[in-house]
Amino acid sequence: MSTSPQHALRVLFVTSECTPFAMTGGLGDVSGALPVALREQGLDVRVVLPLYRSVDRGQLEELPGTLLVPTWDGAASARVWRGWLRAGTPVYFIDYPGYFDRPLIYGPNGGAYGDNLVRFAFLSRAAVELTRFLRWTPAVIHANDWQTALVPVYLDAFERAWPLSACASVLTIHNIGFQGVFPVEDVVFTGLTNGSSRGIEHWGSLNLLKAGIERATAVTTVSPSYAREIQTSQFGSGLQEDLRARASDLTGILNGIDTVVWDPRSDPHLPAHFDERSFEAKRECKAALQREAGLSERDDVPLLGVITRLTHQKGMDVLARALPRLFELDVQMVLLGAGDPEIEQSFVEAARSRPDRLRAWVGGYDNGLSHRIEAASDFLLMPSRYEPCGLNQMYSLRYGTLPIARATGGLDDTIEQYDERTGAGTGFKFHDLTPTTLFDVTGWAVSTWYDRPQHIRQMRARGMMKDFSWSAAARTYEQLYVAASRRHRAPHAVDSVRALP
Ligand code: ADP
Repeated sequence: MSTSPQHALRVLFVTSECTPFAMTGGLGDVSGALPVALREQGLDVRVVLPLYRSVDRGQLEELPGTLLVPTWDGAASARVWRGWLRAGTPVYFIDYPGYFDRPLIYGPNGGAYGDNLVRFAFLSRAAVELTRFLRWTPAVIHANDWQTALVPVYLDAFERAWPLSACASVLTIHNIGFQGVFPVEDVVFTGLTNGSSRGIEHWGSLNLLKAGIERATAVTTVSPSYAREIQTSQFGSGLQEDLRARASDLTGILNGIDTVVWDPRSDPHLPAHFDERSFEAKRECKAALQREAGLSERDDVPLLGVITRLTHQKGMDVLARALPRLFELDVQMVLLGAGDPEIEQSFVEAARSRPDRLRAWVGGYDNGLSHRIEAASDFLLMPSRYEPCGLNQMYSLRYGTLPIARATGGLDDTIEQYDERTGAGTGFKFHDLTPTTLFDVTGWAVSTWYDRPQHIRQMRARGMMKDFSWSAAARTYEQLYVAASRRHRAPHAVDSVRALP
């Protein structure tokens, strides 16, 4: 692949969140890192994101001109701003205050704004229009999750003329549990008609993710195990048949992590720094967090960390039920998370009744604290019901913190099971999700910590040396883009699409 800018493969990466500008979870992390890794590999990747209220405009520049976006209600005029990620990766912000100048990205209290269909249909259409605004035709538009799943549909339905007719689409499913389901009569808000809305209906509702799956050139998800799992009724959330129908175009590519932001050697959020050869400073991080958490400052007790959305998906209901037994063990736990009010409440109450065991920071999002927990903890608990990829287990391995995790999706792909005979492995995995099995596996990890500290040290070092950088994933995405682009475009367009003016 040529790396000269003129011949670089052009990819427009469309997303509803992107760290450091606006994020609520893993999609934000991926969107802030994958485009940079691809750019470092020589691709001309550009990102599109809404200009939410929370984005700091001080670092952006407003571009001249007006972006005209066709909507269900006629043409709308948006402004475009530009900012940058590392490696000179441009990020274009769609400025349309009526839809995006709001306190939150998706809606209050983990819920949804009533007009999310209109908002994200607008983003998807605006992304396609942006290519004309920039006079820059990508070979591939890469959409992510239901919020931008209409991009492949709009390309397929409305862009039958050169040059966008040659543009392939890739849709990545970061979590099949969120599909963008709306009442079927709301199809009018997408601007699609009977003739153009093929694939959008599912069991009497609109389903944006399903439409994207059906109409994208290629579909990916974020780990090989999850790619297999979502084709089954247990994990497919009702879309398993649609995914099986596209099985030959469905690839699981494991996410990487941002190894600059998540580096225990230099992380500015930590009170001390360490690497795989000396964990001494990890102790300092642990002591500092114990003080911050109001837990007794003890090095001789294992510290369990939890950083997650407090939801059913993350198995947090099961963890809450396991707490009374877990607290019979000599352990401490720190938990950072927000989500389901009932689950939040159960952790608040548990912390109130066992302040010697648990400190719970509930209801907020705190990036610095999440770094300090990763560095300070001995173990990180991830009892997910399903986990498309999961980032926290990779962060924790990099910080010498051993994951205790359910063997599902990306957790299963990234954690090697501990073998107590040989000391091999990088974490502790379990299958059945019940309070008893969670207690048992945690007990196994804790007894290893007490009885076989040399195994813990070896596992820590092994985990810290794993390469979870984005470069491997980026190479696979590049191959996928090239294949999708070849498959999609007309043979005569091959050279022109890669080097349009
Ligand atoms: P998901 O995207 O399903 O929520 P991931 O493990 O893929 O799960 O990514 C979650 C990301 O969000 C991680 O970077 C994690 O550290 C972060 N995170 C989750 N909850 C919080 C919180 N309350 N405060 C800070 N970071 C959080």
